[in-house]
Amino acid sequence: MTVVKPNLFDYDRQGLRDLFASIGEKPYRADQVMKWMYHRHVTDFGQMTDVGKALREKLSAHVDIVPPKTVFEKQSADGTHKWLLGMDGSNAIETVFIPETSRGTLCVSSQVGCGLNCQFCSTATQGFNRNLSAAEIIGQVWVAARHLGNVPHHQRKLTNVVMMGMGEPLLNFDNVVRAMSVMRDDLGFGLANKRVTLSTAGLVPMIDKLSEASDVSLAVSLHAPNDELRTELVPLNKKYPIAELLGACQRYVAKRPRASITFEYTMMKGINDKPELARQLVKLMRKVPSKVNLIPFNPFTGTRFERSEEEDIRNFQKILLDANVLTTVRRTRGDDIDAACGQLKGQVVDRTRRQAEFRRTLDEGQVDAA
Ligand code: SAH
Repeated sequence: MTVVKPNLFDYDRQGLRDLFASIGEKPYRADQVMKWMYHRHVTDFGQMTDVGKALREKLSAHVDIVPPKTVFEKQSADGTHKWLLGMDGSNAIETVFIPETSRGTLCVSSQVGCGLNCQFCSTATQGFNRNLSAAEIIGQVWVAARHLGNVPHHQRKLTNVVMMGMGEPLLNFDNVVRAMSVMRDDLGFGLANKRVTLSTAGLVPMIDKLSEASDVSLAVSLHAPNDELRTELVPLNKKYPIAELLGACQRYVAKRPRASITFEYTMMKGINDKPELARQLVKLMRKVPSKVNLIPFNPFTGTRFERSEEEDIRNFQKILLDANVLTTVRRTRGDDIDAACGQLKGQVVDRTRRQAEFRRTLDEGQVDAA
């Protein structure tokens, strides 16, 4: 029988210190190992030269440092870099790095697939398999940081992390919180709190729980300014309607002076891009310190939605801006390698039968195949 050793990527600083204590080692030893892992991208205890030989041997015997395996990687013409990372035999997830002039953002996945079934999201068509471990989440950042030669406090190409890849991060709460702790730890990736953003489709009780557990930026996938339309696009809205969602957002910012919530709004032609809806959105945005990020819809095979016309996006934005609601339009990046928002698919062994159902609707012609 093979014994699986603990993977050190599964622990945050405190967890690692406790683990070291359990094998009779001092906390500073855990800190040293953490620096090797995250600042120098070393996974081989043999190379950790300031750790004594006896301890290196002890560590090799008891624990492991295993990053995710890269199945393939691809770079877009615009510099966007996508990794397909193998999580186990047949599951894989996607991680995307988006370089910009003043920052570099990594889009990280939290689950293999997703169970929320948002109508316009390609990950939803894949169904859901399982939560990622903390190691698999922080491992995505590690793979990208190593590729980019990131050295915290010196050279940082990776400056921001957004939990906006595959999955609903608040449904994998403990592992996501632990991984985000390593992202923000000086011995980890040393990112400032506000540079780590968790995006949620709106699980109200979990937003309150996050508010207690972690100090990160919060983004909420809104996509519609009234319950009727939002329930159609984001079925979770039936359980947590907009008023309750905004209540949780208000509580989140109330605890954090100067914080605001980013509301994501994917622009779909003829669905949610009418001026009247922009006016409704203005009213909602008055209730909480907020920014709106309009995302031009990214098409994928089998979707019945289309991207809004540029002019409609501009008009929508103008209505918000004229009402003093800070509103940006997300530039679509990496769409030549299917790395844009809502296009991440990975390889999911579906446990929800969602894939089969999606294919059936395609066959029955209920969906216009692209
Ligand atoms: N489950 C979380 C994390 C996913 S974030 C959440 O819902 O927030 C991915 C973001 O891209 C979300 O705002 C999502 O609604 C949006 N998105 C999904 N599919 C899209 C598509 N096809 N085009 C543009 N944006 C999309």
